[in-house]
Amino acid sequence: MIDIDGSEGEGGGQVLRTSLALSIVTGKPFRIFNIRARRKNPGLQRQHLAAVKAAREICGGGVQGAEPGSKILVFGPGPVRAGDYTFDVGSAGSASLVLQTILPPLLLASGTSRVSIGGGTHNPMAPPFDFLARAFLPVLRLMGADAAVSVDRHGFYPAGGGRLAAQIRPWANPGRLSLTSRPQPVWWTNALLCRLENHIGVREIGVARAALEIPRQRAVLRRVDADCPGNVIMIYADCGTHMEVFTSIGQRGVSAERVAQQVVDQALAWQQTGAPVGEHLADQLLVPMALGAGGSFVTGPVSGHTQTNIATIRRFVDAKIEVERLDGQRNRISVNS
Ligand code: ATP
Repeated sequence: MIDIDGSEGEGGGQVLRTSLALSIVTGKPFRIFNIRARRKNPGLQRQHLAAVKAAREICGGGVQGAEPGSKILVFGPGPVRAGDYTFDVGSAGSASLVLQTILPPLLLASGTSRVSIGGGTHNPMAPPFDFLARAFLPVLRLMGADAAVSVDRHGFYPAGGGRLAAQIRPWANPGRLSLTSRPQPVWWTNALLCRLENHIGVREIGVARAALEIPRQRAVLRRVDADCPGNVIMIYADCGTHMEVFTSIGQRGVSAERVAQQVVDQALAWQQTGAPVGEHLADQLLVPMALGAGGSFVTGPVSGHTQTNIATIRRFVDAKIEVERLDGQRNRISVNS
């Protein structure tokens, strides 16, 4: 039984999700205590409970402590089973994070899985649908993993009600990842609006276009339907090899200009590092790399999520993960290479 202290490092939900995924893949049971001890609302929230239930269902495992607010969980995995699954967060909690929990084991299953997950599709502090579809999964494809995701319905805070659908095929030939340099990116911007006035998206796009010199034809305003109003402004950096996606979620009481400035700041900070892989992609690529053929990528400053994920991965698998400082801005992360 592997004992995990959920308060270590970042001390958030990622420690639990990575542990669930790797427990199923390795067949090693674990106990996690101090779950999300460093968060304002510690313990299992709905999104984490949904991830635990999804993990249990895809492997027929045993669980103790899967209750709201629980700070201790014991998980005993069974063998992963490909299949058709439907899960629901039951709130506006992130459906993407539930998908990321079960994706690694389902990629290593013997058949194709179709998964439908209800919840939020564009949440603060979580990968929005567009990040999964345009940044994360395409890089997995570079490693030979075939998973696709679509949005059946958008879901925003506070109503949720969104739905993601994913198709995950067996990962037949894992390939080594190499994302170590980056050409000058081609920038795009995309604003989503639901039940809010168009001028909000127009102003956001205006800020993004001016800051990154994005021509009109690479700026898209999309109206979507959801159970409550919602607004997202995204910036895509198309590097040829892969894409980075930066996101800012509109908030009541925060001007469109400020919301857009937040996403511009993220994009410019990444641009300035010269590294191909941004902060979020960096922490999320580690599990697939450790389970596949490894490889290396260059990223900017190493985040708390990345450090914590490295530590959690090492508890389950014998992966050689090295972080090499290249200069003040960039780090090379190598997995089993
Ligand atoms: P909590 O910490 O409250 O439990 P959580 O369950 O959402 O929240 P975290 O441990 O904070 O978990 O992990 C959040 C994950 O979402 C990380 O992998 C992080 O890289 C990713 N993420 C956060 N913001 C973005 C973003 N804008 N784009 C892509 N990924 C993101």
